[in-house]
Amino acid sequence: MASTELPSNFPKKYGVCMSTVIEKHNSEPLIKHEKTMRYRKFGNTGLEVSALSFGCMRLQDNEELNTKLIATAIDLGINYFESTRHYLGGTCQHRMAPGLHGKTAGVIISGKEGLDANKTEYQFFAEIENQLNILGLTHFKFFQVGWFNWGKMPYLLKSGGVLDALRRAKRQGLIQHVGFTGHDCPENFIKCIETGLFDSLTVPYNLINRQYEPTIKRAGELGLGVVAMCPVAGGMLSYDSKKMQEELNMDMPTTEMAIRFVLANPNVSTCCSGMSTFEMLHQNVKTVFNFDPENSIKHEAMCEGLDKMIQGTKGKLCTDCRYCMPCPRNVNIPYFMNIQKNIDCFGLDKSVREAIARIAANQSFTNCNNCGECEKKCPNSLPVRATFKKLAAM
Ligand code: SF4
Ligand code: SF4
Repeated sequence: MASTELPSNFPKKYGVCMSTVIEKHNSEPLIKHEKTMRYRKFGNTGLEVSALSFGCMRLQDNEELNTKLIATAIDLGINYFESTRHYLGGTCQHRMAPGLHGKTAGVIISGKEGLDANKTEYQFFAEIENQLNILGLTHFKFFQVGWFNWGKMPYLLKSGGVLDALRRAKRQGLIQHVGFTGHDCPENFIKCIETGLFDSLTVPYNLINRQYEPTIKRAGELGLGVVAMCPVAGGMLSYDSKKMQEELNMDMPTTEMAIRFVLANPNVSTCCSGMSTFEMLHQNVKTVFNFDPENSIKHEAMCEGLDKMIQGTKGKLCTDCRYCMPCPRNVNIPYFMNIQKNIDCFGLDKSVREAIARIAANQSFTNCNNCGECEKKCPNSLPVRATFKKLAAM
C-alpha cells in the first residue's frame, strides 16, 4: 500500500511547477450572453464561467437531439460542459461531438480520466489525446483527474505518472487548467486542494447533501473554482416538498429552490446539471437567469432552515459513514438509509419510488436476508432492517 504522506516541501515543489507552465495560446475569453445567462468568477483562473454548466452524462441516444441541445445551450450562454469518454458506456463524448462542431471557441469542454497505482504518464497522456480526438478539439481548457481521493495522491505524484502527463500536456498546449473530482471525506479533499496542484474541484452539493460545504469554503479561500454537481440530488429534488417550501419560505418548485441554493453559496462558481431535454435546459437557464443572489434569500438563511429540519433527529440519522459496509448480500445500505432520511427530514416522500428504481438490482434492499450484521456495526444504532420494511411498504 502506497503511503499517503506527502513530502514536507510538497506545495512548493509540485504546486508551483503546475501553475507556472500554463501556456498562453488558446486563451480567448469565454463566451458571454448576458441577456440569457449569469456569469461568475471561476476561482483565480481569470475565466468567467456560466452560472449553469452542462453535465453531459445524461445525453440520450439521439444524435439529432443531442446536437441541437448542445448547440442551443451554447447559444443561451452556457460555456462549461463536463464530460469524459467513460460516461454512457463509452459514448458520452461521441454523443457530444456533433453539437460542438464549429462552436467551441470560448467554451470550456472538460475531459476527465481516472488513475490507479499502475497508471503511467504514457497512458494518461494518450487518454487526453484520445478524448481530444473524439471531441474534435485542439485542447481542453480544463481536464479533470477523475474518481480521485487523498489515498490516490501517491499515484498522481509518482515519477513517470499522471502529474508528469499533465505537465507535458500543459507544455504542449493540450490542456490549460487541471481540476479533480471524486468522493472522499471533506477533510481529505481540503488536503487535496491545499497541495496547490489544482485550479478547480467538482463535488456533489445540494439542499440535502451539504457534506462538502467546508471544502467549498476552503476552495473559495484558496481561489479554486468550484463546480457543484448533482444540484437536484440525482432527481430526488425534482419532486416538490411542501415541508421544504414552508421551512425555507420559498414558494417555488423544489428544482428551482435546489438551483438557487447552490448558487446562493458565493464560493460556488457554477452549478452543473445533467441535462437531456430542451425542457430541462430552458427551465434551468430561466431559473439561473432569474436568480440574483444579491437580492434574494441568503445562503446562511437557507442553511439555517435546513439545519432546523434535521434538528432533533441528529444521532438518529444516517451519516453516510459506511461502517455498515460491506453487506454480505451487497445491499447499498447507506443509499437506502439516506432515502429514508430525505423522507423524514425533508418531506421528499414523492421521490422514493424513483430513487429506489435508480439503484442496480444487485444492490437493492430486496436482497437483504435479515442477518442484522449492519445494525451491530452502525454507530448510530439505526434500525436498518425496519427502515427497509418501511421503504418496501412505500
Ligand atoms: S441485515 Fe440485510 S442489509 Fe444488513 S448486513 Fe444483513 S443482509 Fe446486509
Ligand atoms: S453505519 Fe449506520 S450511519 Fe453509517 S452508513 Fe451505515 S446505516 Fe448509515
